[in-house]
Amino acid sequence: MTQDPDWPIRVAAITALQQRVRQYGEVLSWDVIDAGFTYRGETLHFANRARGIFWPRQMSESALSIKTTVPRQGREARYDDLPSDEGFEYKFQGEDVEGRDNRRLVRAMELDAPLIYFYGIEPGIYAPIWPVYISGVDLTAKSFTVASGPPGAQVQAPGSFAADPRLLTLERRYTTVQVKKRLHQVAFRQHVLHAYEQRCAVCRFPRRELLDAAHILPDRDVRGRPEVPNGLSLCKLHHGAFDADLLGIRPDGVIEIAQRLMDEHDGPTLEHGLKGFAGKPLGILPLLPAQRPRPEYLEERYALFRRTRDS
Ligand SMILES: [Zn+2]
Repeated sequence: MTQDPDWPIRVAAITALQQRVRQYGEVLSWDVIDAGFTYRGETLHFANRARGIFWPRQMSESALSIKTTVPRQGREARYDDLPSDEGFEYKFQGEDVEGRDNRRLVRAMELDAPLIYFYGIEPGIYAPIWPVYISGVDLTAKSFTVASGPPGAQVQAPGSFAADPRLLTLERRYTTVQVKKRLHQVAFRQHVLHAYEQRCAVCRFPRRELLDAAHILPDRDVRGRPEVPNGLSLCKLHHGAFDADLLGIRPDGVIEIAQRLMDEHDGPTLEHGLKGFAGKPLGILPLLPAQRPRPEYLEERYALFRRTRDS
């Protein structure tokens, strides 16, 4: 059994990262990542701003993390960015697999060492994914294949479980697909909340922890892609009401409340939090016209609301 001499550093990094995610949520700003973590009284870095493949100098053989190059300003991650079959494609640093950085990932593959992947969502914002494993090297495409283990799991020491290689490959292929789906949702939420200045489109409520990116056309619809013009930033209450067709949005952006709710009388949540918005325009819209809800999506969704409302 090959031994990973850098195991204790890996465990310290992943433990610290779990704490950051608990504290800050599923996406981290570069400032949070750059602050690093403590290992035996020293501050070590998780990643390096300029380099994709990173290891602290205390690591002797393989790498600690990989990081996507930052997407260009205004550009969004799309489905096409993520190949759907084997895994994530991660480009060599330079051309040569024998290069200093690439050699560290080849070694990580030999050791089956769990790495951290800082996946770029927008400039300065990353979704950390762990554990990930280097599952292949493509010398022609000059890239590595990166597979994901069970997301966010406590990493297990190599050899601590019965690793049937074929079973492991299948399992990682499955979890990689799941992780990619989750990444789309993470990116969607990030972009939508950003476009709406971290506020609810109905009531302008400003706490990120209580905001969702709602789909206008549901994501089971083929057109219901996780893209900003199909999204609305909504607080938990208004998201729930929107999904239950208790709150509708007309194509011109005016809010309607279902009649069955208008006929009820109750405390302030119903009276002010819901009925109070009937006939009012949306409280906030994205500054960029291209990010505003697509009118034909609103129209289609509103037709569904009306059908429910009138039935
Ligand atoms: Zn709201």
